[in-house]
Amino acid sequence: MAIHLNSSVSELPGIGTKAAKDLKNMNIRSVHELLLRVPYRYDDFSVTKPISEIRAGDTLTVHATIQSIDSRSASRNRKMKIIEAVISDESGELKVVWFNQEYLMHTLRPGMKVSLAGKVDGKFGLSLVNPVYEKFGSNIHTGRMVPVYSLSGSLTIKRLRGAIKSSLSCISEIVDWVPDEILLSENYPSLADAILGIHFPDTKKQLFSSIDRLKFDELFLHQLMFARVRNDREKQSCYSISINKESLRIFVNNLPFKLTGAQRQSVWDIISDMAEGQPMNRLLEGDVGSGKTVVAAMSASAVLDEGLCVLYLAPTEILASQQYEAMNKFITKHNTALLTRSMSKFQGESIKQDVLIEKIKSGEIISVVGTHKILREDLSGINLGMVVIDEQHRFGVEQRHALLQTKDKPAPHLLSMTATPIPRSLALTFYGDLELSVLDEMPKGRIPIGTAVVPESHILGMYDHICTEIENGRQVYVVCPLIDPSDNFGARSVVEISKEIKKSVLNKFKSEVLHGKLASKDKEKIITDFKNGKIDILISTTVIEVGVDVPNATVMVIVNAERFGLAQLHQLRGRVGRSVMQSYCYLLPGDVTENSMERLRVLESTNDGFEVAEKDLLLRGPGNIFGNAQSGLPDFKLATINDFDLMKNAKKHTEQILNIGIDQFPLVENKINITFEKIHLE
Ligand code: ADP
Ligand code: MG
Repeated sequence: MAIHLNSSVSELPGIGTKAAKDLKNMNIRSVHELLLRVPYRYDDFSVTKPISEIRAGDTLTVHATIQSIDSRSASRNRKMKIIEAVISDESGELKVVWFNQEYLMHTLRPGMKVSLAGKVDGKFGLSLVNPVYEKFGSNIHTGRMVPVYSLSGSLTIKRLRGAIKSSLSCISEIVDWVPDEILLSENYPSLADAILGIHFPDTKKQLFSSIDRLKFDELFLHQLMFARVRNDREKQSCYSISINKESLRIFVNNLPFKLTGAQRQSVWDIISDMAEGQPMNRLLEGDVGSGKTVVAAMSASAVLDEGLCVLYLAPTEILASQQYEAMNKFITKHNTALLTRSMSKFQGESIKQDVLIEKIKSGEIISVVGTHKILREDLSGINLGMVVIDEQHRFGVEQRHALLQTKDKPAPHLLSMTATPIPRSLALTFYGDLELSVLDEMPKGRIPIGTAVVPESHILGMYDHICTEIENGRQVYVVCPLIDPSDNFGARSVVEISKEIKKSVLNKFKSEVLHGKLASKDKEKIITDFKNGKIDILISTTVIEVGVDVPNATVMVIVNAERFGLAQLHQLRGRVGRSVMQSYCYLLPGDVTENSMERLRVLESTNDGFEVAEKDLLLRGPGNIFGNAQSGLPDFKLATINDFDLMKNAKKHTEQILNIGIDQFPLVENKINITFEKIHLE
């Protein structure tokens, strides 16, 4: 049966029910989806040598005939089976050893011609250890740059690789959506060639140009979608928000603190933008604790004063309920409501969800903070003046688009916020459709957070210090990578740490465990109790990472700190140091390698988010800067923040296409439409 792009993977040779199920768990159902699965690395077995020229340390492929093959038990460990073979070609003989691969006795026989690939060991004479084998002439698993994919269930890499190889028979069905003009001018391979090249490249050059082509696709599509949103928005009318200096003055006078210069500048940027005749698209970038919320609240109050609606979108329920409180604290003239999947509140009280939604629709409530839940409601009838998106990288372009689509009404102004310190130039290229305001000044009186990497031997000293802090009325966070002890060996869990704390000198204090698997009600109660000082020690996973604000907390302990990216550690550390009190961050490494210690020490030396990001880049190299969730960039498979040139290319061609008119490129138009159709909420 001929294979097509939309054939099910189970039609591929070697893919039975079980393998098909494993693939389904990897979200691969069709041949097309299989072809789009990208290898995460390559084994370079492209060098082949005659046996006489092999040297210890070589990684290579040998084509040879099996002379003999035998199995025996290891002398020290009877359970360990050793398979030993001798292979030969015209130039000589070579020993081959496999450990615990008894089945090879049934597969490989003397006289067979095979290709073996692996590393040559020189310890006891030359030998190939645990090489990959295949029948001579196959050229799938040996003799080339060999792709390595992530797997699931009992699926083997050889089976997956074989299935992809078979899929290539229909690669010519892949239609290239990028216009020929662009491919020609950038010298990019066709999409089909790039997909072939990413799986089974003949040369490194072919591999790199294939990767570049596919990265370009991601970035180009991203830019086009941005452009589409921007275009749609430029065509729309909007409300101009009048600047009322008196109201702004009252707002500022009501604050319990003095705004920083950067905050004042940002508010001014925003307010002036919204007074213009075009919908605002602005990104507010500011390190953790720089005070983005009050900037949003002050701008929002100007919109509310016009009787227009403000929606404030937060990525988590915890954060939403906190912003709800902050808005109500900062904005005295209007009441803000809270709407999430499990919570709906107004004027400090719980309220029925449909009642709340009705009140929003009728215009009785005009200020709402919530999660994705808001996006699910049909609020097209309201007079939406402003949308605030907190931690905007947690929302896709599509979600933004959905929010900003107001059928016959003027378009809302958009304020996006992020704590990810992306350099200005990069942010402008990347979020090309956004104006930028940066909070590069911390509120006055903030004392840098004292940060220390704590070796095992100093833990008791740390406990003593924690006791003192709590006895002085302060509170403590303890963050662990995992929820249960079982998940992943090596890393500690909140359950485990909670037990340990209860056995230590800290047992006299009230501690609670917080993680994402708790019911929202329980989560909310724990956070509220912590906020109100009823809990001394909050033992948590990274759910507290974004935005939780308890100024009275002065100690942050991070367990298995080596497991987190530096920028993420910096974000976590930002949960403390939110008042004029001296705060502390203790980093407890699990496995201590030279490299991870060096990384953690960066946090000892600086409190500046931009500096942390830069050092992380230096130490960990490209593609690894923030760890996934914190990257601040959309969820690309291949492109990273370092693909600056490709990004510029994508931007250039986007502008070109817009000038000619997207409708001149039906395939491009289709691709964007398809991507938009897949709007995917929560
Ligand atoms: P982030 O930028 O991380 O979202 P927040 O808006 O949560 O920061 O602000 C952190 C804390 O600092 C809050 O408790 C907020 O009330 C307080 N804050 C904001 N601006 C100032 C200021 N100018 N002076 C003192 N405290 C401030
Ligand atoms: Mg915030």
